[in-house]
Amino acid sequence: MKLALITATLLSISSFATARTSQSASIDTRIIYNDSLEMSVSTAREMLSEIMTVVGLHANFELKEAKVDNIEASISRRKRYILYNPEYIRWVNNITKDKWAAMALLAHEVGHHLNGHTIKRSGSKPALELEADEFAGFVLYKLGASLKQSQEVMKYIAMKEASRTHPARNSRMLAIENGWNKAANANEATVSVKR
Ligand SMILES: [Zn+2]
Repeated sequence: MKLALITATLLSISSFATARTSQSASIDTRIIYNDSLEMSVSTAREMLSEIMTVVGLHANFELKEAKVDNIEASISRRKRYILYNPEYIRWVNNITKDKWAAMALLAHEVGHHLNGHTIKRSGSKPALELEADEFAGFVLYKLGASLKQSQEVMKYIAMKEASRTHPARNSRMLAIENGWNKAANANEATVSVKR
């Protein structure tokens, strides 16, 4: 059992590494993961800094483990926070066997901050969730994830049907796809200009 778990973890780490190296050489930052399903604060910070690198901004967020339901973006006393429950991240890592899942969650929360949702203080609304999802798709393309890897987490965390706060899974996967395609098309345009 333990061996199986380690093997699965190593497999997910190696596929993560492969996906990354197949991407643009301009991304030279690299995350070192240990072979556990935990996400330490320092790992999470490194992931956050990778996300901010591809959007060209400084990470002025405080990333903290907290007793929240899962992961959330918030503002308190004019400071921007991303709070996450380590148990939730462990569960996501475990069920997806893929490090891109946590990256997608983190990118989604960054998307809430950068789209100004946390300033509005309106809480979760379907339209805002889709904007954050689109941002996550955009960032994940830039970081080297395939479309499938970018969408994978939604199979587990998104509800099939829409709710008052969140869109249905299909809409969320489509929003990620839109963001991912946006980054891919921009990349293509850059390449053709260079030629
Ligand atoms: Zn959200």
